[in-house]
Amino acid sequence: MRMECAIIGGGPAGLSAALVLGRARRKVVLFDDKQPRNAVTAHTHGFLTRDGVKPEELRRLARQDIRKYPSVELESRRVTGIMPIRGGFRLQADDGKVYEARKLLLATGLKERLPDLRGLQGMYGKSLFSCPYCDGWELRDKPLVVIADGDQAFTLSRLIYQWSRDLVVCTNGSASRLAPEELRLLHRKGIPVVNQRITELAGEKGQLRTVRFADGSSVKRAGGFVSPYWRHATQFAEQLGCRLSASGGIETDSLGRTSVSGVYAAGDASVISPAQAAIAAGEGSRAAIGINTDLVREDFG
Ligand SMILES: Cc1cc2nc3c(=O)[nH]c(=O)nc-3n(C[C@H](O)[C@H](O)[C@H](O)COP(=O)(O)OP(=O)(O)OC[C@H]3O[C@@H](n4cnc5c(N)ncnc54)[C@H](O)[C@@H]3O)c2cc1C
Repeated sequence: MRMECAIIGGGPAGLSAALVLGRARRKVVLFDDKQPRNAVTAHTHGFLTRDGVKPEELRRLARQDIRKYPSVELESRRVTGIMPIRGGFRLQADDGKVYEARKLLLATGLKERLPDLRGLQGMYGKSLFSCPYCDGWELRDKPLVVIADGDQAFTLSRLIYQWSRDLVVCTNGSASRLAPEELRLLHRKGIPVVNQRITELAGEKGQLRTVRFADGSSVKRAGGFVSPYWRHATQFAEQLGCRLSASGGIETDSLGRTSVSGVYAAGDASVISPAQAAIAAGEGSRAAIGINTDLVREDFG
């Protein structure tokens, strides 16, 4: 099937691109295997007119908008392979179906890897989060824990202090330590730093109650923030030879073009940080305009 654009990823970035390209009368296929990064959380905050919406509801509303534009196909499938061909790309979906497209948009997002802490998986997205812009308001003024390696702990704690002044910083026995000046600043704000290894995040139904340490001590907390590690959700950018930026995101120009002709990127996969649904949607819109601009130039002469 020959399309003008194939979009991989049906999160805010890919869906926003599909909407703009549909309205530009482009023949588009959008693939999504429904494994978004924020699946663990119940609410998306800070998205204009949709503050607090369920992540799946935001995507459902977007798909509903897109269905008004008949040139866009929505495929609930995983793309398993991409091959550059003359004038475009050949994509293979997990049902074996093959598509060809002149342009390719990578809106595949990121995957998180959380620190290996007992109890964390069940609490992440419920009472422990990674981004205060997303979930800080809901945790405001509560007794919070900040879990991060020594080299990130200060920056994250300083930020979280804007939402709550009752903080305990835990480096979980990480080899990297806070610098003396950072410790002094935290001490001045009355923020204790615990370097002990965490043995358990205890609570019930996703609600953190107690942080327990290897030396037998513990501290009561009502929630907090953790600094996760991340990786790209797919290897497509590297396989296609797209240059990555210093932060590890797919490098793009101001219209979402990557270093590989015909390949565009949008959303968390290119921005990395700050990771926000509104930013991803904006990026998707921008890349769609880049794609349409290039198609117009190629076809109009
Ligand atoms: C716990 C948590 C809470 C958050 N809370 C908020 C919040 O309150 N407010 C906010 O603005 N942001 C929040 N975010 C961030 C927000 O979720 C992301 O910034 C946003 O979803 C990025 O959109 P995206 O379209 O780039 O990627 P995603 O939303 O991750 O979408 C990428 C999509 O691509 C699909 N995909 C990947 N590979 C393939 C493939 N090979 N084939 C087919 N499909 C594929 C995935 O299944 C996924 O659906 C939160 C994130 C987390 C982890």
